[in-house]
Amino acid sequence: MKDKYLVTTFYKFFPIDKQSLSIYQSSILAKGEELGIYGLLLLGTEGVNSTLSGEPKKLEEMKNFLKTTLEQPDLFFKDSWAPKNPFKRYKVKVRKEIVTLGTPELVPEKEQNNHLPPNEWHEMLQREDVVVIDTRNHYETEIGKFKQAMDPNIKDFKEFPEYLEKAQIDKDKNIMIYCTGGIRCEKAILDMHRKGYKNVYQLEGGILNYMQHYPQGDFEGECFVFDHRVSVDGHLNPSKTYSLCPHCGNPGKEVINCKQCDKEAKVCHHCLEKDAEIHSTCSKNCAYHYQRQHQKTC
Ligand SMILES: [Zn+2]
Ligand SMILES: [Zn+2]
Repeated sequence: MKDKYLVTTFYKFFPIDKQSLSIYQSSILAKGEELGIYGLLLLGTEGVNSTLSGEPKKLEEMKNFLKTTLEQPDLFFKDSWAPKNPFKRYKVKVRKEIVTLGTPELVPEKEQNNHLPPNEWHEMLQREDVVVIDTRNHYETEIGKFKQAMDPNIKDFKEFPEYLEKAQIDKDKNIMIYCTGGIRCEKAILDMHRKGYKNVYQLEGGILNYMQHYPQGDFEGECFVFDHRVSVDGHLNPSKTYSLCPHCGNPGKEVINCKQCDKEAKVCHHCLEKDAEIHSTCSKNCAYHYQRQHQKTC
């Protein structure tokens, strides 16, 4: 049985003129409020990027509204499920870049993007002459990635161009890049092209789209998502393994009983390695009080 809330991730690069931005903003905000939608929608002159949640019927209505209002009938939605609402609020914001690489001059166009649908991606993954790069951040790759993929070990997507310069990958190689829902790769590929990489392919719709077709494919672990579910498994169901670590905000799976209040909680192994005693607590608040009582500094 499917969960109660439908969650959908989508983006599209298409030009929006500045005057229209605030008009779209207010009409999308009003419609979402009317339908009880939650999540975040970003608008910019380069397009739209969003993850929204709601009751399935209401969210379907919202999808149709967005297709019509933005005049983008081929908006592509990647759906997953949640037992409870994974967002606290609903916001529609205007931003300079709808995904931040720090390169507003790189705006993706349809023609030059080398998308591979999941089946072609899966086939190409089996080849030996390819380099696979995960364009996500380290706290994401740490809980799951394609088994063949290199992890650039970056903290923020803005570090990706610098990673490429250091990595010195052969520019004639076939390179496969992917991210959660596909939007980061749309920008990464442009940066790679201008650096002289010729054969770059990106996973259409990202990991979320791949999992829909290959729940037990080559993606190992869970896929980090930017809401209260923390991550989703191969069947796109919310994580049973991870919670957000109360001390650092990254995914954690080490079960502790709080030294201060005895509540059970999950923290990450990094924090435990740093200070097992102070971080064996369920919240920043408990950590603070525990530390005061034990006269320790972390
Ligand atoms: Zn932590
Ligand atoms: Zn506690």
